[in-house]
Amino acid sequence: MQIDLTHPVFQGAIPIMKQIEAAGFEAYFVGGAVRDALLGLPPHDVDIASSAYPAEIKQIFKKTVDTGIQHGTVMVLAHGAGYEVTTFRTESGYQDFRRPDHVTFVRSLKEDLRRRDFTVNALAVRHDGTVIDLFDGLTDLAERRLRAVGDPHARFHEDALRMMRAVRFQSQLGFAIEPATLDAITDNAALLAHISVERVASEFTRLMQGRDRNAGLANFIATGLYAHAPRLADHLAGLQALAQLSDTQIEDPAVAWTLLAHLTHEPVRPLMKAWKQANAMSDLVAAATTLLAALPEADAWQLYTAGQDAVDVAVAAAALCAPAIDGAAVEAAYAALPLHHKDELTVTGADLIAAGFTPGPVLGRTLHRLETAVVAGTLPNDRPALLAAAQA
Ligand code: ATP
Ligand code: MG
Repeated sequence: MQIDLTHPVFQGAIPIMKQIEAAGFEAYFVGGAVRDALLGLPPHDVDIASSAYPAEIKQIFKKTVDTGIQHGTVMVLAHGAGYEVTTFRTESGYQDFRRPDHVTFVRSLKEDLRRRDFTVNALAVRHDGTVIDLFDGLTDLAERRLRAVGDPHARFHEDALRMMRAVRFQSQLGFAIEPATLDAITDNAALLAHISVERVASEFTRLMQGRDRNAGLANFIATGLYAHAPRLADHLAGLQALAQLSDTQIEDPAVAWTLLAHLTHEPVRPLMKAWKQANAMSDLVAAATTLLAALPEADAWQLYTAGQDAVDVAVAAAALCAPAIDGAAVEAAYAALPLHHKDELTVTGADLIAAGFTPGPVLGRTLHRLETAVVAGTLPNDRPALLAAAQA
């Protein structure tokens, strides 16, 4: 089996692999780029695996950076680009159901491929395009199936994140999960609690952005993984509703979180905090979720306080969970607001002070009264009119 390596991300790395071979070692493309290229998808980043130890890679190449030397990864710099070369390794330990206690560098490609999660992720390709398939990954790829390399039970016990990766890849690639692999996820779902929330959240977000989101969610639910993810254990019905929305692909993670909050009725900020999401994301999702609940009846003030970004997110979420809502009309209503930001008010606090107000709560309340009146359309955003109204 030969693979087409004409894509520039492969082409740039080929001279490096040849140089490693010329020094007497092996080097292969591995991981997602190989899988994606075989599926006809554009590769994003290429991973190179080599029998050369990190110190040996650093002898072969003049310019290198130790990007992950403890895991065996050295970045080789060539013609303005960086290529990560990782030494073949085995992993052992895994006492805490995540990350191995020991990484051992080895010279055998087979040992390196054996530790990888799924057979479709355990393919290697030589610089001449020859595919090395030691775990029947090509058959699984052709049949669009995710199968753990080796004993699935043991593999999920070693690293429980792999279970989330399975449902994420199912959604992202539109693959099925092979039955024994799926059963092992069901048996080991509780081990997900040992994985850092950030890593679970990253896989969950990618699941939500995948082309086959509903299939990935269906197994996230059916295997019981959901019950070990932050704040979802009590939301089977909400998650089932989430897994039955239209298939439209979600691009923006904020839309995914908004739908999750909307359908589970979880309070947004504690939910987002439990999932360790950034404050800016939490603010956006909180605003979008509040607006989504008000649609299609949202009044001018609700649209105004949401702001453009949250309007966009709420409209995108509504397209999935409430398709009867006219999203274009909501966007138009937002665009037609007389005011979009407090800064656009033609009167400032300084103007009111110049007009005789003293700084303090009364001034603040007066400004707020003007702002709400302008947004509601009961006062024009016009300086003389607002100054007159302030005195009234
Ligand atoms: P993508 O980059 O699209 O997420 P990928 O398959 O390249 O997909 P990476 O996380 O970049 O995923 O990992 C690269 C490769 O390393 C995988 O293809 C797989 O062979 C291996 N790998 C990554 N994470 C694990 C893991 N938790 N357990 C076992 N192997 C893993
Ligand atoms: Mg990758």
